[in-house]
Amino acid sequence: MSKKFVERITGMDEDFAQWYTDVVTKAELVDYSSVRGSMIIRPYGYALWENIRNELDRRIKETGHENVYMPLFIPESLLQKEKDHIEGFAPEVAWVTHGGDEKLAERLVVRPTSEVLFGEHYKNIIHSYRDLPKLYNQWANVVRWEKTTRPFLRTLEFLWQEGHTCHETDELAQEETVKMLEVYAEICEQFLAIPVVKGQKTEKEKFAGAKHTYTIESLMHDGKALQSATSHHLGDGFAKAFGIQFLDREGKQQYVQQTSWGFTTRIIGAMIMVHGDDRGLVVPPRIAPTQLMIVPIAQHKEGVLDFAYDLKERLSGHFRVGIDASDKKPGWKFNEYEMKGIPLRLEAGPRDIEQNQVVLVRRDTGEKLTVAMDGLEETIASLLEDIQNSLLEKARQHREEKTSVAVNFDEFKIQLEEKAGFIKAMWCGEQSCEDKIKEETSATSRCMPFEQEQLSEECVCCGEKAKQMVYWAKAY
Ligand code: AMP
Repeated sequence: MSKKFVERITGMDEDFAQWYTDVVTKAELVDYSSVRGSMIIRPYGYALWENIRNELDRRIKETGHENVYMPLFIPESLLQKEKDHIEGFAPEVAWVTHGGDEKLAERLVVRPTSEVLFGEHYKNIIHSYRDLPKLYNQWANVVRWEKTTRPFLRTLEFLWQEGHTCHETDELAQEETVKMLEVYAEICEQFLAIPVVKGQKTEKEKFAGAKHTYTIESLMHDGKALQSATSHHLGDGFAKAFGIQFLDREGKQQYVQQTSWGFTTRIIGAMIMVHGDDRGLVVPPRIAPTQLMIVPIAQHKEGVLDFAYDLKERLSGHFRVGIDASDKKPGWKFNEYEMKGIPLRLEAGPRDIEQNQVVLVRRDTGEKLTVAMDGLEETIASLLEDIQNSLLEKARQHREEKTSVAVNFDEFKIQLEEKAGFIKAMWCGEQSCEDKIKEETSATSRCMPFEQEQLSEECVCCGEKAKQMVYWAKAY
């Protein structure tokens, strides 16, 4: 690694937070804006979001949902209707008090999430079991007045999709809640190469107004956890608050059972912190805006540029291909595309052309391969597949290495100190123990995983009879 390069980006192990900031700005994903906690998503960052969004949108539609669009503003009285919901969100909402210079008769909230807007609408359009299920989703921006912010991970305004559905029965709503959590897990593992733990949030950590909240939790390079998406079984709380009733199959009036689920631009932050390294971003091939970057070598020599452009044309039918034929030095280009995490670099110079070959360099391992022009498409396809799989495998290994078991509080504290990462430990189900653990270690309960293990009989904190195993960690 050249000295010049080292100066460009902070080492991960030296200062992880600074490394993150360096990567998001130097890889040209975002720029800071003049409002604290709001970010400008630059073309490269937005292209990443579009790829993730397209995959998720396809699955949302495949599972029977329709896209809609709700208004940006919520009247205060509407937000007040569900008691737990308003209590949870009140500290985080942005208020609109004036229209032009006229004071509004009723304040408006900029949506922090849209349960109440959907609630109001569903009341008007659902009357009979024949109107169910209603499977709606919206792609939108929302605003939450967060105290501490960081690009992608926690911003004042973020982009997301929010699914809002209504069902005849509790069981059907439960099925939907878990189904959509599975869709999120699939997107994370298959496209972003981020392994996740699926589970249920504790009462303390659940969504304001939900009956149950389910989550996918992932582990970042520094051992901190990230709540990567959530899916809520809302029960009939909002239905009762908004009067969303239907005539059931027996002719009786019933309240609908609802769900809501959200996946945001936060996931780009997860991708950065799971796969990135000291040279910058590492983007999994399946979501990479550019999968292969062609860098001509000695491009002033006759035939090199023609060869490179022909190659781009040939490969573009198969992959997302870029070419940098600018007059910048190859070394600069190498660093630049490594910083941007482009999965493969293709180098072609006069000697390669003569020998009917090119050089491919993997971003994840740095491995350099000289490959024949014949069958180049197959070679690239299998390399991209291999990169995708190795990223997931590497992230899994990292998570395993950073996951430990604790059966008493001393062990818990030692593991957290020494290893960071996830701690699997038994819990009695009392919030007082969650509070104590948080107070003394700053670790929080991440989830009660679907895959339970009986690690011991006693709660890791109080020693009373344990009810379930919980994943704990310090989190973003
Ligand atoms: P919620 O509607 O509160 O369940 O939020 C859905 C998901 O949005 C959470 O699971 C987080 O992954 C993500 N999220 C919450 N707050 C923010 C934020 N300020 N910026 C980006 N993503 C967020």
